[in-house]
Amino acid sequence: MDLYEHQARQLFEEHGIPVPRAEVTDSPQEARGIARRLGGRAVVKAQVKTGGRGKAGGVRFAADPAAAELTARQMLGTDIKGHRVGTVMLAEPVDVAEEFYVSYVLDRTAGGFLAIASAQGGMEIEDVAATRPEAVARIPVDRAEGVTSATAQEIAATAGLPPQTVDVLMRLWQVLVREDALLVEVNPLVRTGQGQILALDGKVTLDDNARFRQARLGEHGERHQDPLEAAAAERGLTYVRLDGEVGVIGNGAGLVMSTLDVVAGCGARPANFLDIGGGASAQVMADGLSVILSDPAVKSVLVNVFGGITACDAVAEGIVSAVDTVRLTKPLVVRLDGNNAARGRAILGERAHPLVEHATTMDGAARRAAELAHTA
Ligand code: GDP
Ligand code: MN
Repeated sequence: MDLYEHQARQLFEEHGIPVPRAEVTDSPQEARGIARRLGGRAVVKAQVKTGGRGKAGGVRFAADPAAAELTARQMLGTDIKGHRVGTVMLAEPVDVAEEFYVSYVLDRTAGGFLAIASAQGGMEIEDVAATRPEAVARIPVDRAEGVTSATAQEIAATAGLPPQTVDVLMRLWQVLVREDALLVEVNPLVRTGQGQILALDGKVTLDDNARFRQARLGEHGERHQDPLEAAAAERGLTYVRLDGEVGVIGNGAGLVMSTLDVVAGCGARPANFLDIGGGASAQVMADGLSVILSDPAVKSVLVNVFGGITACDAVAEGIVSAVDTVRLTKPLVVRLDGNNAARGRAILGERAHPLVEHATTMDGAARRAAELAHTA
């Protein structure tokens, strides 16, 4: 799970990394009050989980409390690179003398962590990395040993960061370890005109697999910001909402992934990923269908099941009773194959709803679902 900047800032603060004073709000009036508390001037920053806010107008300077209110009003509710601005953070402006880049990131291929650091931080870091890779230091970090003061000194020296950054480099590693993060990034880490080192921006990705031992993961909440994903999670379904019009249900992640590809190959776009797993009971099928059917973008649904341990006749029974419970409103194309496929098809043929169709192949089913979605 990615954190918002203000959540990352909070973690940094708790771990003793210097950060500018700041407060978060969703109200322009409150923004005015916050700016006043910060001394009048403020940097107004859109809280969206995407980088490059500066270039997209999501980081703006306000010279007084009235300007802070106006800027917050203009920023709230807007869209930054596809993310709606629900809150803004107001931070005390800092006199920036130098901007650095530092991060620790999980390097899956190396099976360890990597420190990435550069004395050329700031908004152009991607360009720097692309055009002058030698200006970006990459130093492997031994997981067990961590970032010792020797490692931190090595990182700072290799990247050309001033020695005062060593303490921050060590603390940032503590953030990663203690919070079970997969990524911690500070861009820019700045040296102020007064010689202070400050983390001006923060990006932290927490490891969802550590949820069981990280109370904070629950606290930061809204893992499922999408209401349908939240509903699916409540029912224990593996569901990811996509932006197409053909709802997809299958058993087994691999089969569902292939189904998404085949739907796309038929010129339609899948509306979701939904894996009902091996034991596709009527209840699971009903839960899955009700989530998919409550997505207004869905125009047709494709059920693609390969009967294995759960035989196709049981799946067909599940579909028949699920269709009764959820009040089917959109056409459903079912492809059943594998164990007891013939019996499954017979059940659908005899007892299914008029909106339910059967197809014999995966391609045929996807083509038909795409066609139904386009004519709906
Ligand atoms: P990002 O574009 O999403 O990475 O947002 P940042 O929080 O990094 O802000 C973008 C840029 O705004 C930073 O790289 C800084 O150059 C600049 N910036 C942000 N806060 C301040 C500040 O308090 N003082 C100054 N001088 N520049 C700031
Ligand atoms: Mn930044």
